[in-house]
Amino acid sequence: MKEASKLQVLTGASPTNELVRSTAAPAASAKELHDRFHRGSGYVYHRFGSNPTVSGAERALAELEGAERSVLFPSGMAAVATLFFAARRAGIRRLLLQHQAFDQTVKLAAQLHRWGDMVVEAVDPEALGGALRGLDGEPALLYLESPSNPMIVVADLQGIAREFREACPDGWLAVDSTLAPPVVQRPVALGVDVSLHSMTKYLYGHADHMGGAVSTSAAIAERLRAAQVLLGTVATPESAWLLTRSLKTLGVRMATIDRSADAVARFLASHSEVLEVRHPSLMFERFPFLSSQMSGGGGLLSFVLAGGLERARRFCDGLALIEIATSFGGTSSVVEVPVDIDWKDQGETRLPGLLTLPRELIRLSIGLEAQEDLIADLAQAIDVSASP
Ligand code: PLP
Repeated sequence: MKEASKLQVLTGASPTNELVRSTAAPAASAKELHDRFHRGSGYVYHRFGSNPTVSGAERALAELEGAERSVLFPSGMAAVATLFFAARRAGIRRLLLQHQAFDQTVKLAAQLHRWGDMVVEAVDPEALGGALRGLDGEPALLYLESPSNPMIVVADLQGIAREFREACPDGWLAVDSTLAPPVVQRPVALGVDVSLHSMTKYLYGHADHMGGAVSTSAAIAERLRAAQVLLGTVATPESAWLLTRSLKTLGVRMATIDRSADAVARFLASHSEVLEVRHPSLMFERFPFLSSQMSGGGGLLSFVLAGGLERARRFCDGLALIEIATSFGGTSSVVEVPVDIDWKDQGETRLPGLLTLPRELIRLSIGLEAQEDLIADLAQAIDVSASP
């Protein structure tokens, strides 16, 4: 099958997508159960990672990511937490964390740092040299988020993978690629060890289900599996079934979302009241690596309007079509002011070197509405928010 059609209608890995709900599979004999458990093949118990519906969805996602294996989790944060735990169990005590990443990922890393379980250092993906040299061969987890939520920081994944491999051959390079799902960006295919997703966003794509995923090598997947057995961070068969269903429309959803987000970013960038717009589609010139890394810009963008935080809030209130809600990646376009939600207490993390979010930053997630309607709504809300 041609690569393009495989991405548009994913069928190969789990064509029937049968929902198996039982948590344990009966065996014909005690010997058979013993053998199934010790050979690690066949369905034994759901938390051991052998539920057939979950395994089918994992195979489908791994195929899409170009990875040996994928492991599903009940949320994006369950995936992040299990990854940190698995890295620590593998003897990694140092975490190099991109200086802007999802708020709760940063807070979890800061917690591990405070407990002394991990030494955490915030790093700029454009200037990693010093941090990598400072490792002096010690294995580390380098954790990037590209593009990042909500500042849209981008990292040169191929270049960093080469640099990291040389400086830290026993380390793990992980990328949270939630803003750019596999049809847009495939970190593992670019040489990264671990691609992580909050599937709550584009992979499920309808703002109606939570999930997380990690796609990686067989060796790291085994370590994640062992961590998952202890933590219990397993996805349900229903979640796995829904993932296989949702993957079939990922390509067409992202094509529409990419086109509209691109048009919206250009409209905002050309508006006299808009001081700054952040979206990958506007960054291809400054960061040439993006053209071989991302096939589109994804649906999340952020921007700053003249007039500060109060203007930003008035702008959100003035929108008629676009809803005020957090999260992103669904069918409906949504807007939020990040410092009003998660990021309001970012100072608490006390990790030096983190980027500070502009208080007036507005985050916009583009959905499947008509492009002209979205632009008209943004234009009228910019106008009505001009005066208090
Ligand atoms: N990573 C990124 C980039 C996110 O935006 C989020 C949630 O917004 C997460 C991870 C956590 O995902 P979840 O909400 O599914 O736990």
